[in-house]
Amino acid sequence: MIVVGGGLIGSAIAWRLAGAGRTVRMVVGEPGAAASRVAAGMLAPVTEISFTEQALLPLNLASLGRYETFAAEVAEASGLPTGLSRTPTISVAYDADDLARLTTLKEFLDRIGLKAERLVSRDARRLEPLLSPQVRGGLLVDADWSIDNRLLWAAIGAAGRRAGVAEVDGFVHHVRRSGTQVSGVTLADGTELDAAVVVVACGAWAGQLTGIDPLPVRPVKGQILRLDPRGLPQPSQTVRAITQGSEVYVVPRAGGREVVVGATVEEKGFDRGVTADGVYELLRDARRVLPMTAEYALAETTVGWRPGSPDNAPILGPGELDGLVLATGHYRNGVLLTPVTADAISAYVLTGELPEEARAFTLERFATSHPTPPSPPSPASSPPSSPTASPPTSSPPAPETVQL
Ligand SMILES: Cc1cc2nc3c(=O)[nH]c(=O)nc-3n(C[C@H](O)[C@H](O)[C@H](O)COP(=O)(O)OP(=O)(O)OC[C@H]3O[C@@H](n4cnc5c(N)ncnc54)[C@H](O)[C@@H]3O)c2cc1C
Repeated sequence: MIVVGGGLIGSAIAWRLAGAGRTVRMVVGEPGAAASRVAAGMLAPVTEISFTEQALLPLNLASLGRYETFAAEVAEASGLPTGLSRTPTISVAYDADDLARLTTLKEFLDRIGLKAERLVSRDARRLEPLLSPQVRGGLLVDADWSIDNRLLWAAIGAAGRRAGVAEVDGFVHHVRRSGTQVSGVTLADGTELDAAVVVVACGAWAGQLTGIDPLPVRPVKGQILRLDPRGLPQPSQTVRAITQGSEVYVVPRAGGREVVVGATVEEKGFDRGVTADGVYELLRDARRVLPMTAEYALAETTVGWRPGSPDNAPILGPGELDGLVLATGHYRNGVLLTPVTADAISAYVLTGELPEEARAFTLERFATSHPTPPSPPSPASSPPSSPTASPPTSSPPAPETVQL
């Protein structure tokens, strides 16, 4: 089988399936462009919740519930750390209007049964002494953790290679078919790879594959910064803030190595630019609530693209062809959703059944009519011969990353 894309989602699926005895080739694309590298690594089903995206909550919670076991398995299988931190998240408000918004969020969380403890300013600063005295109040959310997504991704990759995943350099251009059955892929350099199962896990680029109906996935640009505390005190937990109406998060890594500040949310396609305004606003907002961040060194500015679907929930399970499997559209929660996605997609490939928790997230939910669903991947079928593919085009753009 072939996995298209070697980000967190593709790597975790490839590792699980190789561990189950499948022969797996993973076409890795451009690792430097992956959202999995760029992301902040928050595991935040509670503070990331959106009033309009509640359908995603059970899946997000299910994935968080698996994270400790998943991270331990990855560490065991790879011999590498994953940087999982179970320290709670603190979400704060800067002025009276921001506090009103946080109060609305707290009422919403109460209504749907999610736990968050209300903090007055003094309590918030007792928990996080680096907070500005101007902070008006906050919420303490035990259920929102974080992970060093770069460490996790490296560890899953190593675990996959140990389990036998073969990594193929290049980009899939075209998905090949024989009748209604997927038969393999053609790479951008013209190389043809045969397979009876093809898993599409190429994040924000999933909509660009040819040979199948365009998948409804769009890139949502995010600018994000990495600061080097240079030995100065750093926050002891993830701090999220609403500051004069705009939102920022500050995610510290264990050992004082790095503090991540993010992120812009821009509907600008694959625009690569790190802008002065984007960097300015992130630094300004972080400094308002955590003045110490102004003393840190600006170590990296990066752009990444979240894979957004029409409802901003992932697209999991059967594609339009027999043997075509989809695992994309994870938008703002792909790091959080890695364990549950890897479990659901590997179960689907191995058994033909999509686990209950993933069934609401098939591509079919966007269909206006309901054609006969394709049959699940067959363990026994071999790839038919390849039809002619259209000529390969260029590879996805690399993001603008500046090491400062
Ligand atoms: C600024 C920012 C902050 C974020 N913060 C968080 C966070 O705190 N918590 C969280 O849960 N999520 C976060 N996310 C979202 C998360 O990063 C994504 O949802 C997740 O990484 C998606 O993983 P993926 O493997 O599907 O895609 P990616 O990580 O983007 O990987 C896709 C890979 O496929 C490759 N590829 C593309 N086209 C092809 C092709 N044709 N053939 C072969 N390979 C191809 C690409 O080069 C890339 O390497 C953030 C995203 C951004 C941009």
